Formats: sequence, structure tokens, C-alpha cells
Amino acid sequence: MLSTMTAISVDAGNRQKISILGEHVLGGGHISRDEAQWLFDLELSADILDLLSWANRIREQFKGNKIHLCSIVNAKAGACSENCSFCAQSSFYQTGSPKYGFVDPEPVLEAADEANKNSVTAVGLVAAWKGLNEGPMLDEVCDRIRELKAGGKTRPDASLGIIKKQAVADRLKEAGLECYGHNLESSRRFFPQTCTTHTFDDRLETIGYLKKAGIKICSGGIIGMGETREDRCDLAFELKAIGANVVPVNILNPIPGTPFEKNPPLPVLEILKTIACFRFILPRQEIMIAGGRTVNLRDAQSMIFMAGASALMVGNYLTTLNQPVEKDLQMLKDLGLDPSWDNHGFSDQEETGCNYGKESCETEMSKSFAAESA
Ligand code: SF4
Repeated sequence: MLSTMTAISVDAGNRQKISILGEHVLGGGHISRDEAQWLFDLELSADILDLLSWANRIREQFKGNKIHLCSIVNAKAGACSENCSFCAQSSFYQTGSPKYGFVDPEPVLEAADEANKNSVTAVGLVAAWKGLNEGPMLDEVCDRIRELKAGGKTRPDASLGIIKKQAVADRLKEAGLECYGHNLESSRRFFPQTCTTHTFDDRLETIGYLKKAGIKICSGGIIGMGETREDRCDLAFELKAIGANVVPVNILNPIPGTPFEKNPPLPVLEILKTIACFRFILPRQEIMIAGGRTVNLRDAQSMIFMAGASALMVGNYLTTLNQPVEKDLQMLKDLGLDPSWDNHGFSDQEETGCNYGKESCETEMSKSFAAESA
């Protein structure tokens, strides 16, 4: 009897704490690192479902019912010089993934047509290589971006690896690039376990050049690689610090032949909780569910929106299949969500509330966390 009473009172306490944090974010506030970690550490399914419903409210408040759809074209496949442990395209691993050089205009323009037909906002050119330098390849990349832009059917995006010079980012901007995908992958602490041929700082440096060029940043990571909840929380705060505009959350789809091939899948509730925590930490950003959605979430895919996701990668991924885009569009329609994202300027991400770290932003919880640790 006593233990049941205790359980009820713990549940009620958690519900109240989640709602305090939810109200705070809805009011334009920001949660602290400790508060976010507390959310990541929730275990009871009743608490996680409470968290999702608050994340859903936050998404509704800042994003309405608009869902931003993106698709990608594998513009140069396989034989990559890098050793990212999750990637089928690394030359370090035998995965049987296709290999080809940089694409001609036709497949890119066909992808733009297809995207336009399906209400997809952006098409991203993705290349499997370490990065982009000045030279003939940059010229060719800029040609593809210009063609996409001139077609006027989708927003031209790209994900072309590490950039080491401001001039490269400036050329991409000049060609009409609006948004560049460059994931941090995980926390700074866990990053060396995902890749040793380049560093976390290489990635931050690239993002710095892109931001200086006036290009929007699409940056997120992959969960399920063996990282801890602390790593996921740190990643979300890094993404907040760099001012990512779109935050892709990928869920590891273990590829045979890669070092992560035997990683156990994350439980569905853990994935949904992670998305919800990202929404609490990044209330105004586009949180996009990308690779690994179908295989990891199966019938629970539609719950990503209740967990706070506001964007979706549709069509096939780089080396794995997704469910047909028609099925995704039907899922959105069934949920009353609208894929016609009309804010190509990202102006809905302007801050109007208090800033992270300011005293005025303290919640009752952060005061109690401080009191507990004093
Ligand atoms: S993730 Fe990108 S950089 Fe890393 S191996 Fe794959 S293609 Fe290369």
C-alpha cells in the first residue's frame, strides 16, 4: 500500500515538473542543461507520454500545423575517404553500396520535378567525400545549384562535407544555395567514436564559414550509435549554440559491414522521448526526422509529430529505402498537418522570448536544481 502511494506521488511530481517546463517553453522561455537532462532521463511510459503531449503543444505554438518536407539526391556516391562508423559509403568498409561520380544535371532536375509534385520544399545535393575545395568540382557543384535555383521548383540545398575556406562558402551562396546540411553527428565527447578521419572542430569550423556567408544551417545528428542520454542532451545544446535552423534527427539503421552493424535498436519510446526533448530545447527550430525512421519506428512513425517534429525527410535516403512519399503525405493529411511550408526565409525562428542563461528565464525547477546542488 505504502509503495503504491509513493509511486503515485512520484508520478504526480513528474507530471507537475514536466508541465512547469512545458509552460515555460510555451511562454518563450528556455530550459537549462540540468532540466533538459532530467527530461532525457524520464523512464516511465506515462511520463514520456506526458512529455510528448507538451512537445506537441510547443510544436503547435511555434510551427502551427506546417510540416517542412525535404528530399535528397545522392550527387556523388560511395568511395568516401572518411571512416564514419555508421556510413555505408565509407571506403573503409565493405558494404556493397553503389559508387559513382558527380551527377549530370538531368537527375537533379528530375528530383526537383518530383519534389515539387509532392509539396517538398527542398532538394539537397549530397556528396560522399571529405569536403569541397576551390577548383573544377566546386564549379560543377555551383552549376547544379544554379540550375536548381533557376528551375524555381524547390529550394536548393546541399550537403557537401567539410569546407576549409570562406571563399568556398561564399561561392555556394553566390550560386544560390540557401541551406547547407552538416551534422555534428553526436556530442563532442562521443564524436571520436563515430569518426577519426576528421574532428568535431572541423565540423564547427565549416558551419562558421557557412554562417558567415549567410547560408542557413541544417545540422543534427544520429541517435542509437551507443551514445548516452547525456551525449544526446549535449548535442541538442551544441545545436542551439551554433544556431542550427533545421535539426535532422537520424536514428541509426545499422548497415552490415560497418562498425555499428550490430548496434541494438533504440526502443521506440526512447526515440520519441529524444525528439520531444529536442523540441523542448529547440522550440523554434525545424526538427526533422530523417534516416532510420521507417525501420526504427515502424507503426509509430506518425507519433513523431506528437513528439514535436516539424519536418520530414521524404523519398529514399542515400543508401537505404524510405516508405513511399504518397504514404507520408497521407499520414500528414490524416493528422491534419500541412506540408506546404511557406516560410522559405526561416523568419519564424526569430527570438522573441527570453534568452538562454538569463536570470529572467529561470524556472521554478532550475531554482530547485540549484538549491539541491548547493
Ligand atoms: S558520412 Fe559522409 S563523410 Fe562520413 S563516410 Fe559517409 S559520406 Fe563520407
